[in-house]
This record gives sequence, structure tokens and C-alpha cells, in this order.
Amino acid sequence: MSSVNLSCIADNVALVRERIAAASARAGRTPDQITLVAVSKTHPVAAIQAAVDCGVFDIGENRVQEALGKIPHSPPQVRWHLIGHLQGNKAKPSVEHFHLIHTVDSPALARRLNHLAGAAGKVVTVLLQVKLGDEATKFGLHPEELPAVYALVRDFPHLRVRGLMTIPPFCPDPEDVRPFFRQLRTLRDELLARFPDDTLPELSMGMSHDFEVAVEEGATILRIGTAIFGAR
Ligand SMILES: *Cc1c(COP(=O)(O)O)cnc(C)c1O
Repeated sequence: MSSVNLSCIADNVALVRERIAAASARAGRTPDQITLVAVSKTHPVAAIQAAVDCGVFDIGENRVQEALGKIPHSPPQVRWHLIGHLQGNKAKPSVEHFHLIHTVDSPALARRLNHLAGAAGKVVTVLLQVKLGDEATKFGLHPEELPAVYALVRDFPHLRVRGLMTIPPFCPDPEDVRPFFRQLRTLRDELLARFPDDTLPELSMGMSHDFEVAVEEGATILRIGTAIFGAR
């Protein structure tokens, strides 16, 4: 666990919110269209508490095991977001505990989540993770397979697909990430053109380094760790 400076978190949240508001204004948007997810991986529950005290109730973790260790000790109002790769053997607790699973990256995982959610009498809310750029991440659907996977998964009765998520390749200049953000939005719009009665409002894209560009390109969910909690 890192030794996060708790006294900085309120200032950091305020600054991030100002930057979101400024980027929104540039794009003709309003900040209420954007959910700030504070990414608390490697940071202690005290840091999560500090974020909640600033009114940040959406908390992201990239490992199920780490999240399960924190959830019982965190404020009950927290909405937990799973933002890392989900292995099938961790799907059951994920169905139980996460408000939104950002990382559905295969038909097999979608099928498993649908089955477990059905058994639990629930509907799980998910995003489809898309892999953009050559060596972006190990995980994610290829853009070419996205339409077929979406067509399959949208019919699963216990899954509700709300949109798309991506982790673009790291670029030192955030401007260089802009085409990937734009591509994710285009992929979403193409799905909606095929399924005009569907709604896919969420685009989970933008991290500490590039969230303002993401807001300009239509992000509705930002996943921000370092800019709120400090270095890991
Ligand atoms: C860690 C992580 C983030 C946050 O990254 P920062 O650069 O610290 O803001 C966002 N998304 C995912 C998937 C992550 O694993």
C-alpha cells in the first residue's frame, strides 16, 4: 500500500473537478454529464474515505481481490467500478459487488456474467472493453469483432450493456490520444446506427494524463487515479 497524503486529496479532487468543468465548457458540455471515478488501486481505505468526504462516490479498482478486501471497510454509499481484466473465476463476487463492470472483453465472459447474474436474480450493468492501437493493452475486443459481440450480448437478459470502455496506448502528448477517443465514440455511434432503438450512453475513457482530451471527445466516465490520490 502506498503512503498517500490524505490532506491533499480534497485539493486534488477540487482541481480535477475544475479541469473537468473547463474541458466541458470548451466542448459545449456540462460536467453533470460526466462521472468521475476515483481509481484507488494500491491506496488504502482511508484514501477512499477522503474521496467520499469530497462527494466522490464512484470508486474504481482494477483487481477484484483488492476490491473485496476494501469493500467491507469502506463507506456503504460507494459505487464500485471494476476497471481491470476480469477472470472467469472472479466473476461471481464481481456480479455481487460492482455497480459497473467496465471490462467485458469476450463473449465467454459475457455469457458467464449473464449466467451468474441470472442465478443471483440480478441484472449486471457492463461496458464492452475495446482494444484500440496496436499494443494498447492485452485485453479488449478488436473493433472488427465488436458489432458481432454486441449483437450477441445485447440479447442476454441479465446483462445491461451501457456503452464502451478503452485504455488507449500511452502517449506522452495527450493530443496523440485524441484519435483513439474519437474512434471509441465512432464505434459506439456505429452500433447505434445498427440498433437504433438501443441506448449506449457511456464512454469510459480518459485517465489522469489525458482526461481533458477525453472530455472534449465525449467521455462520460473518467477513471482518475494519480491526479486524485498521488503517485502509486
Ligand atoms: C490505474 C488505472 C486508471 C487510472 O490511472 P491514472 O493514470 O493513475 O489516472 C484508469 N484506468 C485503468 C484501467 C487503470 O488500471
